[in-house]
Amino acid sequence: MNAADLRKQFPILQQEVNGHPLVYLDSAATSQKPASVIEAVKAYYEHDNANVHRGVHTLGSRATDAYENAREKVRRFLNARSTEEIIFTRGTTSALNLVASSYGRAVCGEGDEIVITPMEHHSNLIPWQQVAKATGAVLKYIPLQPDGSIRLEDVESVVTDRTKIVSVVYVSNVLGVINPVKEIAAIAHRHGAVMVVDGAQSTPHLKVDMQELDCDFYAFSGHKMCAPTGIGALYGKKELLERMEPIEFGGEMIDHVDLYESTWKDLPWKFEGGTPIIAGAIGLGAAIDFLESIGMEEIDRHEKQLTAYAMDRMKEIPGLVIYGPQSGRVGTITFNLDDVHPHDVATALDAYGVAVRAGHHCCQPLMRWLNVTATARASLYLYNTEEDVDRLVAALLKAKEFFGHAIG
Ligand code: PMP
Repeated sequence: MNAADLRKQFPILQQEVNGHPLVYLDSAATSQKPASVIEAVKAYYEHDNANVHRGVHTLGSRATDAYENAREKVRRFLNARSTEEIIFTRGTTSALNLVASSYGRAVCGEGDEIVITPMEHHSNLIPWQQVAKATGAVLKYIPLQPDGSIRLEDVESVVTDRTKIVSVVYVSNVLGVINPVKEIAAIAHRHGAVMVVDGAQSTPHLKVDMQELDCDFYAFSGHKMCAPTGIGALYGKKELLERMEPIEFGGEMIDHVDLYESTWKDLPWKFEGGTPIIAGAIGLGAAIDFLESIGMEEIDRHEKQLTAYAMDRMKEIPGLVIYGPQSGRVGTITFNLDDVHPHDVATALDAYGVAVRAGHHCCQPLMRWLNVTATARASLYLYNTEEDVDRLVAALLKAKEFFGHAIG
């Protein structure tokens, strides 16, 4: 794959920001969208727009086919066994909340354990805090190594026969570390617990395979993998989803409604109350087509190479600290520069057309573990090139010079 050629398929990347060609290094927050995805959403609204599952008319059945076809694309992309195991959601946050509110509250009781890590995004932390509060379950944490990685022997010692749920981020949005979720799932299963994976940062970058990982639930967001915002999915093993109660009730998800009792549709629709995000799902299907046309292995290979290049080049900058491990990571590079506040670093880079994020990245406990209040973060994706990295490094050196003078 040639990132410079791929980049031409992203209209938004063809602009200048503050007088410089845009270098977009904030894909961990949200990715940019290729023309094919934008076109798929536009074509849907121009030709097929109708509500799904109820329409007897032609547009209704076209919209339904397109929506369900997108579900099949997600199934194939994740290598799930069946489309019954793919529930469309608003994204990772709503998928994790669905598991916590439905499965978590049903299986946890006084003294049961939920095991997570201190590197979880708030979206994979607060839902479990809430389950623990509501049920009397105990929240336990797998400790982190100094570089932010997880050791399996620590997982072994935290997970017990009282553990009902283990929920871990596959790829950290701060440390970039790739966690051994397959091995953690095996440990969880030995203790009779289920394994939940936050796939928000893994699905855009790695080839993921539900049958190979053997996790029980897996959540991801479309917008981080070239699809529109507002769409994502929850994968869940059929036998678990069948036992779970919906958490949203109303139109679309019912089978039969009486004055005092109602029954639900089959999987996956019983979890999709209300008019779904039809255009978003179609956009997600187009994004999957786009990623598959390049190949997830190719994307991974390109990003690994570029990450190694970026880490090497960033080390040239005196006073720049990179958090997270050296290897076994993706190109989400979180850093601080001297004592300059990361918001100031990000603002200075923006003046050179370089977009990075700064803040706590929705990981306040991890910030405390790192002993910082905030960091800057440059995150790479398939459309980034070595030239983008060079522009980042040049802008960082200029920022360093400026702040050095400003402080000195
Ligand atoms: N988990 C991780 C690791 C993330 O990076 C994010 C997004 N920053 C989320 C969960 C939440 O995703 P969303 O906002 O799309 O629901």
